[in-house]
Amino acid sequence: AKAMRGETACYFEPGMDEIARKRRELAHDLRHALDRGEMHLLYQPQRSLHSGDLSGYEALLRWRHPRRGLVSPDEFIPVAEESGAIFAIGEWVLREACREACRWSAPLKVAVNLSAVQFLQADLVDVIHKALVETGLAADRLELEITETAIIADKLRALHCLRQIKAMGVNVAIDDFGTGYSSLDTLHSFPFDKIKIDKSFLIKSENSPEARAIIRAVLALGKSLNIPVLAEGVETEAHLIVLLAEGCDEAQGYFFGRPAQPPSQETMQAVNS
Ligand code: C2E
Ligand code: CA
Ligand code: CA
Ligand code: CA
Repeated sequence: AKAMRGETACYFEPGMDEIARKRRELAHDLRHALDRGEMHLLYQPQRSLHSGDLSGYEALLRWRHPRRGLVSPDEFIPVAEESGAIFAIGEWVLREACREACRWSAPLKVAVNLSAVQFLQADLVDVIHKALVETGLAADRLELEITETAIIADKLRALHCLRQIKAMGVNVAIDDFGTGYSSLDTLHSFPFDKIKIDKSFLIKSENSPEARAIIRAVLALGKSLNIPVLAEGVETEAHLIVLLAEGCDEAQGYFFGRPAQPPSQETMQAVNS
């Protein structure tokens, strides 16, 4: 890496230095973001397409940077993974989401995203256990969303870890399905409770028969493996009609609700107004 340093000026496009500088700055600011109360979670509803009922909420992390305003998790999670800040942040997200779900009037599921780096952390099972014990949330109300990237890095270890998580009674969903590597093999060998089809397929489905064929194939796969399938990115009624026609189990997207303030607060506001 040292040898590279002198060459960067010739090889990197103009602007790369700027990007690297921003990343370093973000990494620095991330160290204090939790202590300074700059992080919060929003919640997006998930609906059963069989009953039409709410089935749960996915917790989505937001960072309000003091100077830059809202920073997208797609931008800061990779930085947090690289700097190691992801461990403290991930632990906070878990506890916060479990605590929030305990306040809901119905025993719905709360889905929490785990980054690939977090998934390979040695004490992950303890961290999850601690969040459940400290908040009192029933294990079967927690669903962890992981991507294939997390599994591919070390399959044996991932399988061991997933089994321990499942033994606690916690649910595990495979996220962004269809965008990763050897999806079929992963699905077959890992005990997932849910498949989340990546939103890109539904969003393309109107103009792309191929995208729609992929949705259909994933649904058939879910049926044959007996794993329920949730479609992400339901933005319009037309999307919903596609999913109903194809027999999808659950759905999530702007059509049903954007990520929003914690549901418990909404209920309280509704009661108060
Ligand atoms: P994801 O887990 O795939 O989350 C779904 C993303 O799609 C969210 O973006 C959500 O706001 C967005 N979305 C939901 N409905 C629709 C829709 O109908 N149309 C479109 N176009 N988008 C929709 P968000 O909140 O910006 O999060 C981006 C990614 O950041 C997440 O993708 C997830 O990978 C990561 N992330 C978010 N929160 C956390 C967290 O607490 N921990 C970790 N490790 N990663 C997180
Ligand atoms: Ca997710
Ligand atoms: Ca996803
Ligand atoms: Ca994603």
